Amino acid sequence: MTIPAPALPEQAPPSTAFRNATILTMDASRRVLHGADLLVVGDSIAAIGVGLEVPPGTFEIDAARGILMPGMIDTHRHMWQTAMRGYGADWTLTQYFVWYYLEHGKQFRPQDVYAGNLLSSLDAIDAGITTTVDWSHGLRTSEHAEAALAALEEAPGRSVLAYGNIFAGPWEWADSEEFKNFATARDRSSETLGFQMAFDVTGDPAFPERRAFEVARDLDLAVTTHAGVWGATNDDGIRLMYENGFMRDDTVYVHAATLSHDSYQRIAATGGSVSLSTESEQSCGQGYPPSWVLREHGIPVSLSVDTSVWFSSDLFAAMRATLGADRSIEHMKAHEVGDTVTHSHLRSEHVVDWATRGGADAVGASDRVGSLEVGKKADVVLVKNDASPSMFPLVNPYGHIALQANRAEVHTVLVNGRIAKYDNELVGTQIHAARKAVEDTVTHLQSVLGEEVWNAGMNPDIPATKILDNPYQYTDYRTSSTHVATEV
Ligand SMILES: [Zn+2]
Repeated sequence: MTIPAPALPEQAPPSTAFRNATILTMDASRRVLHGADLLVVGDSIAAIGVGLEVPPGTFEIDAARGILMPGMIDTHRHMWQTAMRGYGADWTLTQYFVWYYLEHGKQFRPQDVYAGNLLSSLDAIDAGITTTVDWSHGLRTSEHAEAALAALEEAPGRSVLAYGNIFAGPWEWADSEEFKNFATARDRSSETLGFQMAFDVTGDPAFPERRAFEVARDLDLAVTTHAGVWGATNDDGIRLMYENGFMRDDTVYVHAATLSHDSYQRIAATGGSVSLSTESEQSCGQGYPPSWVLREHGIPVSLSVDTSVWFSSDLFAAMRATLGADRSIEHMKAHEVGDTVTHSHLRSEHVVDWATRGGADAVGASDRVGSLEVGKKADVVLVKNDASPSMFPLVNPYGHIALQANRAEVHTVLVNGRIAKYDNELVGTQIHAARKAVEDTVTHLQSVLGEEVWNAGMNPDIPATKILDNPYQYTDYRTSSTHVATEV
């Protein structure tokens, strides 16, 4: 029989204790504790140990038969696209570009960006993701940017607004007063809402993106960029960034799938990191998920969802896909030379590390989040569901998180010490507001596109105006290294 969990107190408790957990600390020595407690006081972790004494008024959560881990960190998610969840399930990257970049992305109103962001934020918390980088590249106007921001501020999780706009050249929007005013108005001391710039580098030898990098440098903002995407961004972009001194240790390269060893060495030498979206790389065609080559170059890795217009919106799926892809290529390479892999290089512990500490390092927050240690901010996830047959036995906690667990087993989520999910359900009523907002967005898009276009959009035709050799419609730059220029 399952004993019901005690109800949450009406007032947020001043302290919360998890009792009798298996704890994946993800600290520097990767301690795994059994039958241990973790005490949160205010917004921080106050104590970890067995049989902890706790202050009066502490809300106690029975964590026996569960795994306590740091809140996960998603370093690349186009949150605005969550309003179209699942619509592009059968797309290729080209079809994504056609739909969002060329034809219909401009139909998103500010409230549609808000709707997607709010839903995506709640979705993240529900899945145990406590920090999300919103790779927000649909910000056509300052109203869109304010709407994206409003949703992130209302949502319970930490986020980083990575500001972008695929409908204009980065050198245009980044250099505008509108953007600079928005950027300088951000509270840079906020611990729950960070700010970055998000744009891609096409490899055009004129390097028009230089201006955007200069703005980022002047404002001291990190840049996140899709790099190593087959047919779109490649070694020329990395070389231009390198030669012009714009590769920094806080730069995050998304996908990094089709790059040369020179480019990987440049990333490694300048201290940047790669955000892997393995489900995306496998399905869209950016290139083979590169965890295996990143390991060879010692490049730090974090994990990401990319977009739930296609893919799973939790990092359990990302860990699973990444383990599978990495092991697949190792086996294939071995078989090609008549060999057998007898030991897997990539372990479940590694992908749990990438989903937690790796993300914290990528967003420059490893002093505060990414591990369970006394003094760190209390972003804590309890994976537990006594009613679930897939929750026992718990003999291998890393393996359980990487290959067995799912969001329905995320029992409790704390962000900054506040309980955002409890007893396997989100706390609060924002889900209703998010559902209403997203329904309105879907109705809006269906009405402006019309039924025929809406239905065709799930498997769009490639239009006569060429996009294959240049998804970035704000520039005419194309080359044989982006795509062989055959007329459609
Ligand atoms: Zn992306």
